[in-house]
Amino acid sequence: MNPIQNRFFFIKKSIPKNIKILAVSKNKDISYIEELYKIGHRDFGENYVQEMIKKYQKLPKDIRWHMIGRIQKNKLKYITHFIYLIHSIQKIEHLQIINKEASKYNRVVNCLLQIKICEEKNKSGITDKKASNILESEEYKNMKNVKIIGFMGIASFQKSIQKIRHEFHYLNELYKSLKNQYKDFKILSMGMSKDYLIAIEHGSNLIRLGTFLFGIRDKKENFI
Ligand SMILES: *Cc1c(COP(=O)(O)O)cnc(C)c1O
Repeated sequence: MNPIQNRFFFIKKSIPKNIKILAVSKNKDISYIEELYKIGHRDFGENYVQEMIKKYQKLPKDIRWHMIGRIQKNKLKYITHFIYLIHSIQKIEHLQIINKEASKYNRVVNCLLQIKICEEKNKSGITDKKASNILESEEYKNMKNVKIIGFMGIASFQKSIQKIRHEFHYLNELYKSLKNQYKDFKILSMGMSKDYLIAIEHGSNLIRLGTFLFGIRDKKENFI
């Protein structure tokens, strides 16, 4: 067994069974993905459309691809026919594009709204108010080929555990308060390599692990 597979099993054994692991393979060569594929893992996350497409073309088609990076509006159409879950929706306009493209393939594409849970400027996301505006809009309600099934959040990139707890707690409360109202809600995507244990304590059911599984990321130019 190689180190990547070892780390995967280590995590899997140490967390509750209902929590999904998303292996974040951005900036990592397909050989890394193959190691986890061999032991039955199917969920992989990418930040860039172009990189995802390259990998999608080379790898088995039963992989479930997750888009977790900032939405590149003009490139959404290239992934709509195969994408499994988009975590980073921040605008009704994103949903409109996906809905239109997905209808061509007769698919319903599952999406999460990315909620801003920390103050850092470069961490994106929308407010809870904006999220409910989208969910309540007639426009969204009329979309047949796109479905919002929960939230994604990125915590502060710092050491204050209290602060991170507070951020995850906030998103979990928001999620729980809307879960009864929106029957499609089933995913709360929170937690990365550094903070996934805290995220799980606060209700996450999908953790996104890059560095912990695959090691420090290569520079982009090394990959492509
Ligand atoms: C890169 C990335 C991850 C993985 O981060 P690690 O710290 O390497 O686990 C998770 N979520 C998002 C949105 C990312 O961009």
